[in-house]
Amino acid sequence: MAVVAGGASGEVRELTPLQARMLDQLRKAPEPVVFDPALAEEIRATVSEAIEAFGERLGDEQLWVSKHRLSTILGCEAHAMAPGEFAWSPATATGQVSHRAIQLLVNWRGEPAPADLVDEAIARLADDDRSLGQWIAALSPGDEADLRGNALERVTRFVEGFPPLDKRAHPMTEARVQWPLDGPVVFAGKVDLVMGRPNGAESTKLIIDLKTGRHSPRHRDDLRFYALVETLRTGVPPRKLASYYLDVGEADVEDVTEAVLRTAVRRTLDAVDTLVELTTGEREPAVRPGPTCNWCTLLPTCDVGQAHLAGDLDD
Ligand code: SF4
Repeated sequence: MAVVAGGASGEVRELTPLQARMLDQLRKAPEPVVFDPALAEEIRATVSEAIEAFGERLGDEQLWVSKHRLSTILGCEAHAMAPGEFAWSPATATGQVSHRAIQLLVNWRGEPAPADLVDEAIARLADDDRSLGQWIAALSPGDEADLRGNALERVTRFVEGFPPLDKRAHPMTEARVQWPLDGPVVFAGKVDLVMGRPNGAESTKLIIDLKTGRHSPRHRDDLRFYALVETLRTGVPPRKLASYYLDVGEADVEDVTEAVLRTAVRRTLDAVDTLVELTTGEREPAVRPGPTCNWCTLLPTCDVGQAHLAGDLDD
């Protein structure tokens, strides 16, 4: 049976089998999902109380906590606390360019080719005076071709495998989320794709992270953090979380439940507690070797990491 849906340009079209499967995974349940408002209030009270206590230990310091900061501090603490020098490269800029291209796709009239979207995204980012724009403006032809090719692959895979984004579902790409406005600890992030029209206390939002490469359990933790921030921010939890793996065209989907939110609260507060301990010098960071050793800037002086990579230590 043909499956149809409203596309970015509003017309009805037949879905590919990949898109149909994906739509099935992300579809709303027949019954609306509505959480007890007391749950969001309780979570907000728990997190606010914890932040107040963290603030007393932090003094004048302020911690900005992202999903990346959480996951790194729960790995090798020494690596997480090492001063890092971020530099743009075709690999690191690919995500930004492809997300911008997908953002353009949402509001583009007609049927844009992925290559046009990527070119437009690169041109717009180059006009930007932030560090990425400056880096793009100074790209060598080789690096520019690399960046364009990588982003084109991601956008093409997205268009092929993801159902057309229906504007009525309020799709937002690179959606910034933050809670609270200010204070000793601020949770913040940028969500790849959010969909769902608000409808009172009903949980309508679907939070999606676009992924290349292999599946990792850490990806669920990242999304649960976003679910927590959304709950703190709006008082209404999202209904579903999905990591969409562009290479295979499949998603790892999780329904948001009370247990998921409580797990996110525990993990987040535990990680922030560690960040506070290490930021204030209450203890030294622990060294935990793992895959991160491969790109860790501390490796040249880290005997544990070197022994791990030489195979002298068990994982
Ligand atoms: S090399 Fe490995 S063990 Fe050493 S600090 Fe870096 S990530 Fe940690």
